[in-house]
Amino acid sequence: MPIEVLSEKVASQIAAGEVVERPASVVKELLENSLDAGASSIQIRIQDAGKRLIEIQDDGSGISARELPLAVARHATSKLQNAEQLNSIRTLGFRGEALASIASVSQTMLISKQAEDQTASRISVDGAASSKVEKIAATTGTTVRVENLFSHVPARLKFLKSDSTERQQIYTLVSRYALAYPQVRFHLEEDQKLILQSSGNGNRREILSNIYGVEIGKAMLEVSFKEQDISIEGFISPIGITRSNRKEISFFINGRWIHDAALNSAITQAYSGLLMVGRFPMAALFIQMPAEMVDVNVHPAKAEVRFSESSKIFSAVQRAVRRAVLAFSPVPEMQPSRMWATSYTSTSNQERTPGLDWQMSADIGQKNPAGLQPGPDQPATFSQNETEFMPLLRLIGQIGGTYLVAEGPDGLYLIDQHAAHERVLFEKLIQQRSEPAIQPLLQPETITLPPHQAVVLEESLDVLTRLGFVVEEFGNATFRVRAVPALFTKYAPAELLRAVVEDSEEDETPLKGMLEAKIASRVCKRAAVKGGTQLALEEQVQLLRNLEQCQSPRTCPHGRPTMIHLPVEVLERQFGRRGSR
Ligand code: ADP
Ligand code: MG
Repeated sequence: MPIEVLSEKVASQIAAGEVVERPASVVKELLENSLDAGASSIQIRIQDAGKRLIEIQDDGSGISARELPLAVARHATSKLQNAEQLNSIRTLGFRGEALASIASVSQTMLISKQAEDQTASRISVDGAASSKVEKIAATTGTTVRVENLFSHVPARLKFLKSDSTERQQIYTLVSRYALAYPQVRFHLEEDQKLILQSSGNGNRREILSNIYGVEIGKAMLEVSFKEQDISIEGFISPIGITRSNRKEISFFINGRWIHDAALNSAITQAYSGLLMVGRFPMAALFIQMPAEMVDVNVHPAKAEVRFSESSKIFSAVQRAVRRAVLAFSPVPEMQPSRMWATSYTSTSNQERTPGLDWQMSADIGQKNPAGLQPGPDQPATFSQNETEFMPLLRLIGQIGGTYLVAEGPDGLYLIDQHAAHERVLFEKLIQQRSEPAIQPLLQPETITLPPHQAVVLEESLDVLTRLGFVVEEFGNATFRVRAVPALFTKYAPAELLRAVVEDSEEDETPLKGMLEAKIASRVCKRAAVKGGTQLALEEQVQLLRNLEQCQSPRTCPHGRPTMIHLPVEVLERQFGRRGSR
């Protein structure tokens, strides 16, 4: 084929791929435009997870009728005039390609009015063709309406994740921006349902409470740090509030949300030694620094940045966070007596370290319960090892508060107590699911989740009901737990439900049938006795006996091994008793 210059339409569709990956990226670009226009109120409406409609209305400075066609043209911007200014960008936008990109992959309409104008004007773009500008009645500010995103570009549609994932990303994004711009009023609704609202009164803690619930809103620690030309404000979680992943850590640099792995690790390092392995803090930090110190022109989506003095920023974040954590948390002392005591029976620790649930072993009489037929529903690990049996073991003891040591007919066994308990709980939970034994709570517990997690819980309610949870939706991302499976009477119900939503990966779109096993395994993982918990002798024995009853005793529901076997021959070889003579 001959070389030809691409048409404007194709060029902008290609460029759109970098800017507009998914509905949430459209929301991000439009939000940023509204913020750049100095809006004090931003209303976002979406339909069908943003695929049918994304509409953002602001009360910002607006665009004149004359400039409206330019707003949707590629490389047209009011925010940058020359290359030098690239070194000190103070606006969120500057590339002049977002609206053009969005318009090239959707049907887009802009209505805008500047304060000094009598009437508003409107322009529509369908693919690349734009209409002429018409006069229309509207208030000062701008409304951008994006319909049928990617409908001309089926290749992109195909790459979108499930609606719930796309929706979660939008909710997360809007929550973050609401927190970053507390003086701006945000309102997000989907299909006429209010998802999130902030008052614009400047109070960040109030917004935290809207997003995460009052309890977390109250508990979060304030960060306020200034050193030379770097200032850091925001919130971090106290050591008692943790998450199973880093998703609730976010950074804004000069008002721009960014993703930066190094800053993430600056935070986790600041907590080092204070959190359990595998647990992460929550954090929302708003960093201000001279615009010259940060290069935002790294990628079209503008979520990656480069710092001119990255180690200075890294260390500032680490110290700011460490200082706040230590100021509010008792410095943990080495308390061997507590670590090694059978602390699981006392409920005095605020941090629950539940021990084995005795109730679960009450009905252990029947062997290899027939009801337990792993179907195609269950994860592979569940059925894979059906034939793998586990010999009867004689318990020797526990080491490091974490492993059980046992002797079998063919050598030594080391058993990971957490993984083993996970397996035991999981099989019990799945096995009783047709008629779950339910324990009503004396006092129903209320749990409020951030909107993006509330979606996940809503979608999990059917499964949870089948497993023996009685959870009611209370509206506004609030749920009320009335009963839990009898298996879990000893655990904090809210913690178990949080496990369902937190451990769910943003991008996972489990097959319907897998959902049950996934949810069950998350709950069991949270409930299972942790490593580092000393167990009484009878509990160690009971755990071994329960594990023997399992269909797949050798792996935890996530597929990790529950036990390591050291055969007699290996021991003999290692000691030079065999083979070497
Ligand atoms: P950029 O934000 O990088 O300049 P965009 O394509 O996002 O590029 O927007 C193009 C131009 O349209 C902006 O520079 C701005 O002048 C104008 N514009 C877009 N959205 C708004 C809005 N909500 N309010 C006022 N002006 C806007
Ligand atoms: Mg922009």
